[in-house]
Amino acid sequence: MKAKNKTVCDLLDYYKEIALIGSIESVLGWDLSVNLPPKASEERAEQAAYLTKLASDKWLNEGFRKLLEDATKEIERLGNEEAAIVRNLNHSAKFYHKVPQDIIIEFSKTSSMAFMAWQKAKEQDNFKEFEPHLTKMVSLNQIVAKHIGYKSNPYDALLDLYEPGLTAANGRRIFGKLQPELTSILKKILKSKTYKDKSLDNLTVDKNYPVELQKQISLFVLRKTGYDLEAGRMDISSHPFTSSLGRHDVRITNRYKANDFRESIMIALHEGGHALYDQGVNEKYEYTPLDGGVSLGIHESQSRFWENQMGRSLEFMQYLSPVLHAFFPEQLKDTGDEKLFRFFNRVTPSLIRTEADEVTYNLHIALRFELEEALVNDKVKVKDLPGIWREKMKKYLGVVPAADREGVLQDVHWSHGPMGYFPTYTLGNFICGAVYQYA
Ligand code: MG
Repeated sequence: MKAKNKTVCDLLDYYKEIALIGSIESVLGWDLSVNLPPKASEERAEQAAYLTKLASDKWLNEGFRKLLEDATKEIERLGNEEAAIVRNLNHSAKFYHKVPQDIIIEFSKTSSMAFMAWQKAKEQDNFKEFEPHLTKMVSLNQIVAKHIGYKSNPYDALLDLYEPGLTAANGRRIFGKLQPELTSILKKILKSKTYKDKSLDNLTVDKNYPVELQKQISLFVLRKTGYDLEAGRMDISSHPFTSSLGRHDVRITNRYKANDFRESIMIALHEGGHALYDQGVNEKYEYTPLDGGVSLGIHESQSRFWENQMGRSLEFMQYLSPVLHAFFPEQLKDTGDEKLFRFFNRVTPSLIRTEADEVTYNLHIALRFELEEALVNDKVKVKDLPGIWREKMKKYLGVVPAADREGVLQDVHWSHGPMGYFPTYTLGNFICGAVYQYA
């Protein structure tokens, strides 16, 4: 876009290079998760760290900092769009200007190594393998928080990176109310007749839904939501994600379970929701800080809206039912719309967050929020995490992981980077609920 204000115009010219580095980082990151041969992980870590340094150099450039300062002084006089550009630049700059560059680079390198250690630890179900890396990540997060600054809780500084304005106190208020109520709803469900009706098990036990057919259904659903496959694609990765590699290149990934077709369809809707949001951004915001959405919570509201409000509705099941029956005529014999609807909305307390239903999902997030806040505030030691994890799972969901790979080691997030990301999942659920209710 062409800004009217000369300073903002110059800022945008300069910012384009930062945005380009970001796109290249996304290409490498996508490739790391989808294609990378295992032996190449260390060189990929070095490539990523180099780009991190390049981006950091750009943010630290004296001329750029001066332009941003000047534009900030004029912010009251700017129009909405231009003021938002300056606001967003200041929000991102806070990280690069306050945290020393060597810490940022160390963060990037540590997280690459931690990611590799986490993969191994999860595979071998050995938390000890990951423990020293996580300990280092926690201390780096504390250092980052200290540099960014906070009033009383270092977790506030980290939360704000993902959801501007979110604080630990807000989070405690949200989860303090949500967790006990959800746990009590769950207890009621577990006693209900619907829960005890095991006939839905027949849809998964000893069933085979060929992966290639599941992929076709996912692509069908994605096309129907309006996802532009000429400007995106769907691949496979162990942790599904959406990544914008460019304005006309918003990719998603999926994964498949041969005996259960629900997951791949819901993932397609979820990641497709993220992708639709990115594809829907006005073209004129390309290479500006207005590209890519308002915040992670808002982004998640779009994915959860397509997944839960739309995807798990009876109306959508009625629409999808003939398609599912055409693909799986034998497997779904005698399975009407109503039964499919119950199948897709089944509530079961489970160990794995990414497979959780709507009732239990936020309980998984409550647990992670509490642990992160405690870790960052030195109230919990990394070595005690597996035990505390089990205790909280028992209290909130009534299930206990037998192995750490199904407990504390299940998520990739703590190996990847700063803490403070998890609560945005719950915010996303709230926001899409409100959008559905009031829009
Ligand atoms: Mg998501």
